[in-house]
Amino acid sequence: MSRTALRICPLCEATCGLTLTIGEEGRVTGARGDGDDVFSRGFICPKGASFGQVDADPDRLRQPWVRRGGRLEPASWDEAFAAVEAGLAPLLAEHGPRATAVFLGNPNVHTMAGGLYPPLLLGALRTPNLFTASTLDQMPKHVSSGLLYGDANAVPVPDLDRTDHLLIIGANPLDSGGSLCTAPDFPGRLRALRRRGGRLTVVDPRRTRTAEAADRHLAIRPGTDALLLFALVQVVFAEDLVAPGAVGEHLTGVDEVRRLAADFPPEAVAGACDLPAEEIRTLAHELAAAPRAVVYGRIGSTTVEFGTLTSWLVDVLNALTGNLDRPGGAMFPLSATARAPRPPRPGKGFALGRWRSRVGGHPEAKGELPAAALAEEIETPGEGRVRALIVIAGNPVLSAPDGDRLDRALAGLDFMVSVDPYLNETSRHAHVLLPPPPPGQSPHFDFAFNAFAVRNQVRYSRPALPLEAGRLSEAEILARLVLCVSGRGGADPAAVDAMAIDAALGKAVADPQSPVHGRDRGELAAHLTGVDGAERRLDLMLRLGPYGDGFGADPEGLTLAKVLAHPHGIDLGPLRPRLPGLLKTRSGTVELCPEPLAAETERLRRTLESRADGLLLVGRRHLRSNNSWMHNIPALVGGSNRCTLQVHPKDAARLGVADGALVRVKGDGGELEVEAEVTDAVRTGVVSLPHGWGHDRPGTRMSVAAAHPGVNVNQLIDGSRLDPLSGTAVLNGCPVQLTVVAPSA
Ligand code: SF4
Repeated sequence: MSRTALRICPLCEATCGLTLTIGEEGRVTGARGDGDDVFSRGFICPKGASFGQVDADPDRLRQPWVRRGGRLEPASWDEAFAAVEAGLAPLLAEHGPRATAVFLGNPNVHTMAGGLYPPLLLGALRTPNLFTASTLDQMPKHVSSGLLYGDANAVPVPDLDRTDHLLIIGANPLDSGGSLCTAPDFPGRLRALRRRGGRLTVVDPRRTRTAEAADRHLAIRPGTDALLLFALVQVVFAEDLVAPGAVGEHLTGVDEVRRLAADFPPEAVAGACDLPAEEIRTLAHELAAAPRAVVYGRIGSTTVEFGTLTSWLVDVLNALTGNLDRPGGAMFPLSATARAPRPPRPGKGFALGRWRSRVGGHPEAKGELPAAALAEEIETPGEGRVRALIVIAGNPVLSAPDGDRLDRALAGLDFMVSVDPYLNETSRHAHVLLPPPPPGQSPHFDFAFNAFAVRNQVRYSRPALPLEAGRLSEAEILARLVLCVSGRGGADPAAVDAMAIDAALGKAVADPQSPVHGRDRGELAAHLTGVDGAERRLDLMLRLGPYGDGFGADPEGLTLAKVLAHPHGIDLGPLRPRLPGLLKTRSGTVELCPEPLAAETERLRRTLESRADGLLLVGRRHLRSNNSWMHNIPALVGGSNRCTLQVHPKDAARLGVADGALVRVKGDGGELEVEAEVTDAVRTGVVSLPHGWGHDRPGTRMSVAAAHPGVNVNQLIDGSRLDPLSGTAVLNGCPVQLTVVAPSA
C-alpha cells in the first residue's frame, strides 16, 4: 500500500508544504502541494514536483569515502571519523586553529541539522577562517542591517500581501521562488497585488519572467542600482516628500543622508543608469504617493561593486517614505525560534573588521571572510596558512570566482573533509567524504527562512522515510564531526546536544527577563521532548521563543509537541511592527547614515564620471535550477534550462553572432566558449550566463550533470573585485568581450 507523508520542501527559500506519496517499495514516488499547509496553501513548482527524483538520485553517495594511497575508497562510518580525527589532530597540534578553515555552502540553510550544528563546530574549532556562500550572495544586506539596526540578522522583508506598490530591484522571484523573502507562491502573491489595484515595477537588465509580469520594467545598466536609488532618495528630499511616519521618532542621521543625496539628482545618474531622468522622477513620486509601498532588492543588487551601499539605500528609501516597519512596507519577521522581544534599550552596535584575512587583509563581516579569498589563504605560504578545510554542503569550485584556481588550491591541502551527498567538483578533493541522507529521510525545520518569511508561522516535518540501513542522520554526522575536532571522536554524539541544551538553559535561567529566570536547568531539561537531541533542541528553542510556553509560563504557548500536533503548520499571524524593540545600535535608534556608508558614497560619486562602454555580464536564474545542486536531476535539466550566453539582437548583429553560434567570452578572470542565444530578453550592452554550471571536471560522480556540463561563469570573473564593506564577490556587471569561434555550437 502506498501512503502519504507531509514534508516542507527544502529546494528553495519558499518552503512550500508538500504531500509526498510513498510507494510500496518505500520510496517517494510523487509530490504535490499540500493544500492545507498554513503558508503555501497547495503551491508547488517543478523543483518540488521532482522531490522523488531528487531523493532517489542513484548518484547520491550511500556511505563515507576515505582517501587511501591517493584514491577515494568506500569506508565504514567508524573508519571515516577515525580518519577525520587522525587527519586534523596533528595539524591542530602543530599549527593551531588558524591553520583550519570552514566553508559552509548554501544548502546548509535548507536542512535542520545545518542550522543546529555548524555553530557548535565553529565553537569547537575556534578558527577565524569561516567562508560561506553569503559572500557570494547576500552579505551586503547583513552588513547594511548591522549598520542600520545594530543587528546583521534584522533583515526587513517586503510585506507582499498588504502592499500597494512593489519595486523589485535585481530579483527574479518568479524563477527563484523568492530570496530573503520567504513567500510560497510568489506568482499568486504578485497576481493578488495587481488584483487589489497595486503596482509592480521591476528594475533588471533582463526582461525576466518577473519583469514580464510587471506594470513597468526598467532595463537598467548593470551595477548602477545604487545610483538609481540615490536619485530616488534625492527626489524624495528635494520635493519635500519625506514622511517617515511612526518610525520617524527612532531615526537619526536623516539630514546627513539628505546632504549625501544632493549630488545624485535623476539628471546626474540617468546617463550612468541608462534610464530617462523623468522616469526616475515618476518612480519616486509613485513610491511616495502610494498608501503602502515597499522597495525590495536582491542578488542582482548585492553581488555588485556597491552591494552594501545598494542594500542600505533600499532601507533608506523605505524609511523616508514611511514604509519601514509598517504593514504593506518592509517589515521584520518574528520567527518561532527567534529570541523573544525585549524592551527597547541601546545595544552593543555592529562592528566590521574585528579581524582581517591573513593574505589580502580583507575585513571580516559577521564573522566571515570573503569566499573569493579562500584560494589565496590555502596557496600562500607562511604562518597561519590554511592547511585543513571542512566543507559542509558547499561546492565553491563552481560557486566562487576563479574556480580553476580554487580547484588547484584544494588539491594542495594537507587535509579536507566534505559533508556532501555527491562526489562533485569540490568534494572530489576531500580526504574524507561524509554523505548525509536524502531529504526524505531527514527531518526539516526552517531556522533561517522563517526569519525572512512574509507571514509568521511555524511548521516542522519529521522524516518521511526511515533511515536506510548503513546511513547516519545529518545531525549525527555533524555532531560526530564536532567531537572529532574537539579530540573526542569516540564520545557519544548525544553529548553534543546535551552540552548545547545545558549551555542554552544556563543562559536562560541567568537572564532576569527570561520566563525561566532562576529555575533549575536540570529540571527544565527534563521537560524537553523529542526523539533525539536535535528535536529536544528544537523544543527548547520553541519554548523559549517569542510564542513559546516558557516551560509552563504560558500554557497556550508553543512546544514541539504542539507543533507536531499541527502537521500542516501553525499560522502565527501577519508581520507586526517591531521597532524600536529589535534595535541593537549603540544609540538605540535606526542609524540612517552610518559612517562607513557615507564614506562609500564618495566612492560612488566618482563613478558618475567614469563609465565603461562595452558588454557587461550578468547572471540568471532558472525555475528548474538552484545554483549547482539540481543539475543531476533528469526532470530539471534540458528544455529551456540551458547554459547559453544570452545576447541582444543588436549586439549580435554588430558582432556577427548568430543564434546558436559558438562564441568565446573573455572576462578579467579568464575565458570560455559557450553557445550564444540571441534574444531581446537582455538589454543591449549586456550578456547573461547562468551560474552553477561547469560539470566537466574529472573525478566526479554526477552522471546527469556531466552529460549537460555547461560552462562555469565564475571562470570569467576577477576574484579580486569585491564589495569592500561586505567582502562579497562582484559577480554581476563584469566587463567581457565576445568573439565568434564557429557559426554553430
Ligand atoms: S517554490 Fe521552492 S519550496 Fe516551493 S515547491 Fe518549488 S522548490 Fe519547493
